[in-house]
Amino acid sequence: MKRQDKSSELTPLDIVQQIVSERISQVSGSEAVSLSDISAMVGRISAETIRAPQNLPITDNVAVDGYAIRLSALEANPKEWFPVKATVRAGHPFAGHIAAGEAAAVYTGAVLPEGVDCVFMHEDCLLKDGQVQIQISGRAGLNIRPAGENLRQGEICIADGDIVTPQDIGQLAAAGIAQLKVRSKLKIALLSTGDEVASAFQTAAGNAQILDANGPMLQGLLAADGFEAASAQIIPDNREALSNAFSKALDKADVLITSGGASDGLEDHTQAAMHDNGVESLFWRIAMKPGRPMAVGQKAGKLVICLPGNPVAVYVCYKLLVAGWLKQMLGMPAKPLLRAELPVGFQHKKRADRAEFLRARVETSDNGQAQLQINGRKGAGVISSLQGADGLVEIPIGITEVQVGDRLPFLPFRERGL
Ligand code: AMP
Ligand code: MG
Repeated sequence: MKRQDKSSELTPLDIVQQIVSERISQVSGSEAVSLSDISAMVGRISAETIRAPQNLPITDNVAVDGYAIRLSALEANPKEWFPVKATVRAGHPFAGHIAAGEAAAVYTGAVLPEGVDCVFMHEDCLLKDGQVQIQISGRAGLNIRPAGENLRQGEICIADGDIVTPQDIGQLAAAGIAQLKVRSKLKIALLSTGDEVASAFQTAAGNAQILDANGPMLQGLLAADGFEAASAQIIPDNREALSNAFSKALDKADVLITSGGASDGLEDHTQAAMHDNGVESLFWRIAMKPGRPMAVGQKAGKLVICLPGNPVAVYVCYKLLVAGWLKQMLGMPAKPLLRAELPVGFQHKKRADRAEFLRARVETSDNGQAQLQINGRKGAGVISSLQGADGLVEIPIGITEVQVGDRLPFLPFRERGL
């Protein structure tokens, strides 16, 4: 790996993350969702902290089918034949008491009867004439799930700001919580800008036209994260038209995300549209490829996120930055992205003054080790390089050359995660 120190006018990714993160104001509003409407619950952000109302499970219960006895009686005489006094099935607790020297036949999930403290699997027992002999040694608590094993009374089922996962839903159901207060959905507006940009719904798009990939892709990225946005409006490269579109979006939405026209070229008008609308600029230009011209501004707590036009940049910026900010607006604490170092199987040269994020696949090298390979063709417009990628490989600022075998941070996409 070759390195070079170089100062830059561009703001590094982690600083950008922090600058915006510190300024984000949480959107108010919450609504109740019910366990009977799982799709309305999963992926939302909890607006309350709920604690276990009681121990879960409520009672000690049996973990295997077998025989329950008191350990001290077995230790006093390991050859003892214990008379089977009761049969205790799941859902049918035994009202009586099992004395020392007696046994109960028990089934998985049954409430542990009173008087016993260990359970032996029936394959470890001999049964003869209604009496049971244990064939192995035991210990107190053997094959017993103690009350509160899952959660003790008062422990947290779900915390304010948690994303509601299927595991959380399982836990809420286990605790008998049928309703959860979640943050109201963010109102997100999308604009795709550029004279060349046309919609896939437009039948007469000519060869000079680029069909809007960013709008629908952003809608998809948002939907996969539990957000929603109406179709992007397409706005030409015209300051007035863009400023008007910004103004309308800011009236209605909590967040405006644009793509295209984010640079400082003659036909790049997002900076001007921010200015015309009194949007305070939080930063402009990030030390990252793809994504360099990105800008973020804020007005009355509303966020304006101007992404570059290239679809790979849109995707990468959304994943690395935008998704986290949107979740934060709903009260989820900012969390560092998951990075795992892996050796690379490719060579690459780059500028020192920015980090580069390449689309990568994890492959197995000749020695059986996981190794990162570049996925598809390079280039910020190459949507096909995103398809089938396992994640992004980061080549940090300061590195100018990467060789086979160098270890670099890998950020997995969820498609290949669990
Ligand atoms: P810009 O950031 O406006 O300079 O655009 C950079 C590149 O991205 C140009 O080649 C545009 O044609 C392309 N582009 C801009 N907007 C979109 C879009 N919505 N969908 C697909 N490509 C786009
Ligand atoms: Mg443009």
